[in-house]
Amino acid sequence: MQIITEPGQMQVIAEKLRLNRQLIAVVMTMGALHEGHLSLIKLARQSAGTVILTIFVNPMQFAPTEELHRYPRPFEQDVALARSAGVDYLFAPEVSSIYPDHFQTTLQCGALGEHFEGKLRPGHFNGVATVVSKLFNITKPHRAIFGEKDAQQLAIISQLVTDLNMEVTIVPAPIVREENGLAVSSRNIYLSSDERNKAGILYQGLCHAEKRMAGDERNLQTIAREVEEIISSTPGCRTDYVNFVDAISFELAETAEKGKEYRLLVAAICGSTRLIDNLRIRA
Ligand code: AMP
Repeated sequence: MQIITEPGQMQVIAEKLRLNRQLIAVVMTMGALHEGHLSLIKLARQSAGTVILTIFVNPMQFAPTEELHRYPRPFEQDVALARSAGVDYLFAPEVSSIYPDHFQTTLQCGALGEHFEGKLRPGHFNGVATVVSKLFNITKPHRAIFGEKDAQQLAIISQLVTDLNMEVTIVPAPIVREENGLAVSSRNIYLSSDERNKAGILYQGLCHAEKRMAGDERNLQTIAREVEEIISSTPGCRTDYVNFVDAISFELAETAEKGKEYRLLVAAICGSTRLIDNLRIRA
């Protein structure tokens, strides 16, 4: 595995790979690699001959109040994990080479970026879209693997690629979960072991919704309220939002149409840690 820090050098390598007709798959992360990230790398391995992993903690997607500097950066451990997962190139640039002095061009997401996570973190998805576009230009992938864990981000990136005619296929990867159903996340380190056990309630709520829809309940607001109750009845947990959206457009959905796909989005605070999760459910 080669470690690259300079965007120019990564571009030269990617261009050569393309000229040699190598398929490139990229996995973009902020590091602190866990099982979720490793599953994306595995999918990348299966879908292309060359795998590029990017590790970049993107300041543009953090609000001034969020703790950019507290974000975990266990680089040596990440290098070892990436190597054993079969990554070919690890691209880990410095902030100054991604955002040099006089940098000023940014992307703006539309309505998709304004609700849910975008409402809580204004400008967050513009920062994500900008860095993802830059990383596409640098790594020149044929395929890019993104986790369904961040379903709104996945929808925004799919829209970005369509809107800007980018020649990259977005491959969604299923959510990796712990034994109790809690979605694996870098944030889980902030949970105490008691909170970690309790946080499994988010997945139980999602599964309840799936059962209710399988049982032909069509009123999605009723189901969402039940999920809210399930989560909030766990001591130390409270919901931020529980909403059904159309699986593609991400527009709020109130009544289920038979055969259509929806996504139930959940954000909840367990202890003092905010967690997000979701489930794609066909009515
Ligand atoms: P992050 O480093 O948190 O920005 O995540 C990088 C990528 O890993 C994103 O595409 C995430 O959606 C994905 N990811 C994070 N957690 C999981 C998980 N538990 N299962 C699958 N993918 C995940």
